[in-house]
Amino acid sequence: MSGGGPGGMRGGPFGRGFMTDEEKANQPKVTPALLKRVFSYLTPYWKQLFLALLCITVSSILNMMPSILTGKIIDEGLLKQDLRALLFYILLSLATTLGASLIGVADSYINTWIAQHITYDMRNQMYRHLQTMSQRFFTTNNQGDIITRMTSDIDGVERVITSTFSSILSNSLTLIVALVAMYQRNWILATIGIIIVPLFTIPTRKAGKTRWSLTQESQARNDEINGILNETLSVSGQLLVKLFGKEKEEYHRYRKANRRMISLNIKESMAGRWFRVVLSTFTSIGPMLIYLVGGVLMMRYDSSITVGDISVMVALLGRMYMPVNSLLNVQVDWIRSMALFSRIFDYLDMPVEIKSKEDAVVLDDPKGDIVFNDVSFGYEEDRLILKNVSFELKSGNSIAIVGPSGSGKSTIINLIPRLYDVKSGSVTFDGIDVRDIELSSLRDKIGVVSQETYLFNGTIRENLKYAKEDATEEEMIEACRKANIYDFIKGQEDGLDTMVGNRGLKLSGGEKQRISIARLLLKDPLIFIFDEATSALDSISESKIQEAIDPIVNEKTSILIAHRLSTILAADEILVVKDGQIVERGTHKELVKAGGVYQELYETQFSRAEQE
Ligand code: ATP
Repeated sequence: MSGGGPGGMRGGPFGRGFMTDEEKANQPKVTPALLKRVFSYLTPYWKQLFLALLCITVSSILNMMPSILTGKIIDEGLLKQDLRALLFYILLSLATTLGASLIGVADSYINTWIAQHITYDMRNQMYRHLQTMSQRFFTTNNQGDIITRMTSDIDGVERVITSTFSSILSNSLTLIVALVAMYQRNWILATIGIIIVPLFTIPTRKAGKTRWSLTQESQARNDEINGILNETLSVSGQLLVKLFGKEKEEYHRYRKANRRMISLNIKESMAGRWFRVVLSTFTSIGPMLIYLVGGVLMMRYDSSITVGDISVMVALLGRMYMPVNSLLNVQVDWIRSMALFSRIFDYLDMPVEIKSKEDAVVLDDPKGDIVFNDVSFGYEEDRLILKNVSFELKSGNSIAIVGPSGSGKSTIINLIPRLYDVKSGSVTFDGIDVRDIELSSLRDKIGVVSQETYLFNGTIRENLKYAKEDATEEEMIEACRKANIYDFIKGQEDGLDTMVGNRGLKLSGGEKQRISIARLLLKDPLIFIFDEATSALDSISESKIQEAIDPIVNEKTSILIAHRLSTILAADEILVVKDGQIVERGTHKELVKAGGVYQELYETQFSRAEQE
């Protein structure tokens, strides 16, 4: 709607009027339902839209005025040698140009305003929806894809509103105004104009195609370069390159990809140059034809045609070129826009897998008894990970879950805060099926220190406050003391304000873990769950974590996934999991005596770890 410059058209001479094979294959079905949904985002802003439409209409008409006034300047001013008329029409022409530009500015503002508000609504709606997506969604979908929907797809929508929609409107209006003005003057010349204008677009389309394929190729090269940069300049990638001494190879790989860009970019820019040569030749043919036919008509057949009329026709013809070109390309833009919307709607329509029921119970004054009743579960349809798991954790007690890697220990605890729902059987909290409990009230009562401790990039204080926004300095220090990390924090120059780095990478594994324990202590849940990392920490680090966990296990209801004997011994009961089933249960002494899986684990894993 904005940009009422000469012609006020969009789409650029090369148009983006060509679709990739992928786009062709994925063309969305433009159904009334889809259109209705797209327009539902516009309806809250109908007042602004109406204003924008008004601006386009007025600026399209004003934009045509200088061309129409050319006739008056010639016929009334120059040919009649009337200085007053000449000045009047010149000033009027200037004023309309200025007016059109000013209205163009207003339109631009309204248009951007609408686009920004719509994408703001959309972004928030999408973020909110993504937050309700289950763990399964995030483990299955590529993180890059999710971010792309949130960023480029929605940016695309913004472009659609500021460019596609408005370009269709303003171009159609300009064209209508030009046609009416032309037919009013002389139908023969107007018809010649209509026949010629589409011919103008031939070179545009040809050059567009060449340029499009070059752009495609350079985009692929660009992706390649970005891939190399992403791989080799990330924290872990850099480390790998350094440790394997691959700097030289990586540099060569990068240089080669970079080099290919040079010739592509040169070709691309030259395609543009040649295009302009062809275009200017073609565009000069149109006016010449009008001069010729108009001249012959004027001299031989119709004396009412004036020089001004012919000049107006030529001027209007020049104004028609861009809108026609844009409108010829509009179908592709339209399909592309609809594809964007469909992609976004696909995401928004993904069902929320894990949510609170309408009549969900809000836990009030809970005790914290957890029971697994004959639970079976699998991440995928056809592969069960847990089979008939039953156990009971009484409030105040603690359970250690042990078993070989991949046996399903973490999976068991994922079911308690409902990161996933059971396939059959049930998990209950104080006797209520967790699926009947209001989700946030359930998760509020459960605290997990997972294998992969995650800290946000910020200070230790900020990370701690994530658990309790209004935590006082004393509370934080107390939690850090209990988590055995306070001495470390005290030793840092910035204390609690020490930056933890990207994902907490400036800290050691043990330090990160202890900070996450402190964070959990601040949350103070009813049930503590520790998923002990399998990766070995040094023994000092381990014993520090142990000292932090032990009192919690003794005092609170807790579940530990344990790989070390000392942790296991702290628990009241031990469950031994193998291939998704609980194969043994009891105390350490009982289980060693029984001489089964536990005893084997004890000999191969725990006791050796202990000796180390
Ligand atoms: P470890 O001691 O090594 O942490 P674990 O006993 O905790 O192992 P789980 O993480 O529960 O084992 O995994 C059990 C099985 O479920 C494994 O075979 C694993 O491949 C599979 N699994 C885990 N998470 C997923 C997931 N998100 N999607 C599909 N399969 C998964």
